[in-house]
Parts: sequence; structure tokens; C-alpha cells
Amino acid sequence: MSTVAVETLDAIVVGAGFSGLYQLHTLRDQLGLSVKLLEAGNGVGGTWYWNRYPGARCDSESHSYAYYFSEELLQEWTWSERYPGQAEILRYLNHVADRFELKRDIRFGARVSQASYDAAANRWQVRTEAGETYRARFLITAVGCLSSANIPDIPGLESFAGAWYHTGQWPHQGVDFAGKRVGMIGTGSTGIQAAPVIAASAQHLTVFQRTANYSIPARNAPLDEEFKLWARDNTSRIREVMHGTPNGHPFVIEDRSAHDVTPEQRQAIYEAAWEKGGLQFRAAFRDLLTDQAANDTASEFLRSKIGEIVKDPGTAAKLAAIDHPFATKRPPIDTNYFETFNRDNVTLVDVRATPIERITPDGLMTRDGTLYPLDIIVFATGFDAMTGPLLKMDIRGDGGVSLRDAWHAGPITYLGLQTPGFPNLFTITGPGSPSVLCNMPVAIEQHVDWITDCIRDMRARGLTRIEATPEATQRWVEHVNEAANATLLPKAGHSWYLGANIPGKPRVFMPYAGGMARYRATCADVAARNYEGFARTA
Ligand code: NAP
Repeated sequence: MSTVAVETLDAIVVGAGFSGLYQLHTLRDQLGLSVKLLEAGNGVGGTWYWNRYPGARCDSESHSYAYYFSEELLQEWTWSERYPGQAEILRYLNHVADRFELKRDIRFGARVSQASYDAAANRWQVRTEAGETYRARFLITAVGCLSSANIPDIPGLESFAGAWYHTGQWPHQGVDFAGKRVGMIGTGSTGIQAAPVIAASAQHLTVFQRTANYSIPARNAPLDEEFKLWARDNTSRIREVMHGTPNGHPFVIEDRSAHDVTPEQRQAIYEAAWEKGGLQFRAAFRDLLTDQAANDTASEFLRSKIGEIVKDPGTAAKLAAIDHPFATKRPPIDTNYFETFNRDNVTLVDVRATPIERITPDGLMTRDGTLYPLDIIVFATGFDAMTGPLLKMDIRGDGGVSLRDAWHAGPITYLGLQTPGFPNLFTITGPGSPSVLCNMPVAIEQHVDWITDCIRDMRARGLTRIEATPEATQRWVEHVNEAANATLLPKAGHSWYLGANIPGKPRVFMPYAGGMARYRATCADVAARNYEGFARTA
């Protein structure tokens, strides 16, 4: 009979992206806990480890897509472009992991398959797919919001004679598109980034569009020395701005309504924002996400831009046939996306009008019987967002209740941090927190700091168990719904914010839309009131 070694720790962190790395650092180096970080991949980076598709780049500006907890780290790292590319972010996260000596406490290639709470011992037991077992008082999931790939169930995929890839599971050695007929399904942020790069080397690219999308030019460019110096000299000011805004970006939302200006002034404001590029477009007026008529002005402007760029009127009409208000789905930013449809080797197929019927050995067939011959299919089809990565782990709380059952009608959390029945389990940027509606590192640092302070406080008071109360959780879930309904965000009925991209998933608006600054104040207030809404015991 063989005995299986069980490693016992103070805390287990799952996931070595932005959030897990920082959480490992604070628990180990600030609190002195024994911590193990379990990571499915063979390196750090999280989303930036997996998403190596052509054109992968962040839409937060580089000086804000970074940790702000260490001034030394801020001073020693310099970004090269306005938006950081995937490879540069991966280098940065490796630098962070090396600088703070994090890798020695990370177990790579360890995908968590089950986590269960042992009430008698007040400990979590975590098992990996390889059969390793770890036990710890605290379990912190840092698994990201967009890490569970959605590969649509299209009949015939297994018969396809060519190669196919999901953008979120991209081969590390890259894909050579030269001389290939490529079909790409999906026109979200990912597809919009990938299409121009694929088109540049493929023999032909066919883009299968189900829902037309807005996109704003990123205007990416190398950063000049003056900006780099300014960013380095102004870290406190930048942090202050990011912490004060609803979405954690380093720019303020203009305090004016789209109705406060004349149509000519509005046009000029939009033109200037279009020229400047990036997510700042959304900040041109304060009411773009709360007032339909205000939003209509932005939506109209952006549709008209598509008409100006795309030469073929039929293609332009399909690209501009957008069925939801601007920014109610996550707004993509691009480099030459609409321009790509002016290339001779690019075709747009509207699969809302003629849905995908099946995949054959030779390509993709739409319902009207047209076969598009393909050598490569790229699935830019998104993720089972927010809840997907958590539910995949088969988490079982007090009494063996599964998180899947607890969330059968949609995620139920207090502050996005905890779920009743799952003591000592914390989720970083989980559903019910601003997460994906915020510049992620800002949301992550706030969550990690809050969790760290909470555990520090428990240890100081000799407490070992914390669980969100059902009453506080109920009130928070209602507040999350109210916050979403106070905006236009739920109007994009098919968005992943609502879980609507996954067949059978409950339709609940998952992120907290009340704004990061307000959320930060709420969490601080909860802590100041002796962790109101949490039951903490010895
Ligand atoms: P996504 O926004 O969910 O887009 C998926 C696309 O695939 C949509 O166009 C969707 O159409 C389409 N699709 C899905 N299933 C389909 C099917 N069966 N048939 C036809 N079309 C199908 O996913 P994503 O583009 O990967 O982006 C996800 C999120 O990741 C973004 O919103 C953003 O938060 C993040 N991201 C950020 C960056 C960045 O920082 N620059 C880059 C990439 C991703 P429908 O709209 O009709 O469902």
C-alpha cells in the first residue's frame, strides 16, 4: 500500500497571473505565511501565458497596466509601446516573479481538479489532475475571468482535415498562415485584433461575423522618452487618478453630458477622441453608458466611421449593422481592423444572416449550402467568462455542497470575495466585483490587499474562520443587479457579461457596475466595521 504525501500550508493560491503572483507575494512576504501557488501552465502569466494569438495586446495603456504596489518595481521597468503586447507583458510578469523570488513557491503544470472544505479541521483540501494533494487554512482563487475557452459545439469539427486553434490556447511555437486559407470565427476584442495580422500573411482570410461590433483605433505607437520619464516621475499622481475613476484607467471621465453641447461640438469631440484613440473614447461624456440618447450619438458616429473606411458598401453595411448600444459589450480597440476588409484577400461572411451549419473535412458550411474551403480555422469565440474557471475546479464547501449547485441560478457572492457555505475561500476579481469593468491590475491590487489585510487581522485576533453571511450576500447580489440596471450594460442581451454566450448558462449580469472607486470605498468600510457581513470565528 502506498501513502500519498499531503503538503500542509497556511494558504493555497490558484493561478499565476497578475493576481496570483501578487497574492503569493503579500501572504508570504508580508504575513510570513507558508503558501503554495498552483498553476496549470508551465510558466507565469495567466491570460498572457495562454493568449499568444497574432496581435494579442492589452487595451489598457502600458503605464497603467502594471503593479503599483512597489515604487522600485515601477522605477525599474519601462514599457516600450502605448499598449503592451502579449510578449512584453509576459516578460514583465516573469521579471516580477524573479524579482520577488516567487517561482520557488509555484508548482507549475498543476491544474486543480478539486477543492473541498474539511469542516472538522477547518481546512481546504486541494487536489491536482496529477493526483497531488495540498491542505491549507485559506484557499484563494486567482484564476482570471477569461481563462476557460469557449469552443462552440459545431457539428463536424472532428472531421476537419485542416488545423484549428482557439485564440486562448494558442500554440507557443506560433502558427504559419503563409499560403493558407484561414477562416476566423468571432469578432470580439480578440478577433478584431487578430484579423489584420492574420490577413497580412494568409493566402485568404474569411471572417465569420455573427454580431457586428464597434471598434476604435488603438493608435498604438512606441512611447517616446518624454512620456516614459513623465510616467516614471508621476507614479503617485497616476495611481491617484486610477484609484479615483470608476474603471481604474489613468484618465478621467469628462464631467459633461452628450446633451450639453451642440451637434457640431459633439462631432468635434468625437473626432478628437477618435484621433486620440483607445478606450478614452468612452470617457468623452459622462452619460454614454447611462443615457440611451447620449449613447446613440456615439454609436452613430462610430457606425459612420465604418462607412468612411470600408470601400465595399455591402461589406461596410454588414460591419455597421450593430445591434447593441456602444460599450454595452466590452468595446474593442484595434489596429487597422476595418481597413483589413479593403484587402483583396479578406472576405466577410455574415453568419447571423446565414448561420454556420457544420464543419466538413474541407471547410465550413453555412445554412444556405455555401462551403468555404479552409486550411485553418481560428476560433476567436471567447470564454465561459467569470464563473467558468471557478466551476471547472469542482469546489465543494461546507457539507460537500458544490459551488456549481450554489450558483445554479447565477453567481452569488458578497463583494465578489466570498460565497456563503465556502468558508476561508476568497476569489480575486470574481463575479460581483468590478473585475472586467475595470483596468484589471487596479482591481487585482485592491482585492489582494483587502484579502491580505483581512487575514492579517484574523491572525492578530486569533480567528481562523471567515464566511460571508447569507443576509449580507443577498443584499450585495441585489445591489449588483441594481448597479447593472442603472446602466445600459444589460442591453447587450448576448454579451458574456451576462453569460449569454454560453448555451444553458444562467443570464445574470456578473461584474459589479457601480464603479471601482465606489467599490473600493465599500470594501474599506466593511473592513473598518470589523468585517461587517462576514462571520469570523476562532
Ligand atoms: P468575445 O468578446 O466573447 O467574442 C467572441 C466572438 O465569437 C463574438 O463575436 C461571438 O459572437 C463569436 N462567436 C462565439 N460563438 C460563436 C458561434 N458559435 N458562431 C459564430 N460566432 C460565434 O471573446 P473575445 O473576443 O475573446 O474577448 C473576450 C474578452 O477578453 C474581451 O471582451 C476583453 O475583455 C478581453 N480581451 C481583451 C483584449 C485587450 O485587452 N485588448 C483582447 C482580447 C480580449 P456573438 O457576439 O454573436 O456572441
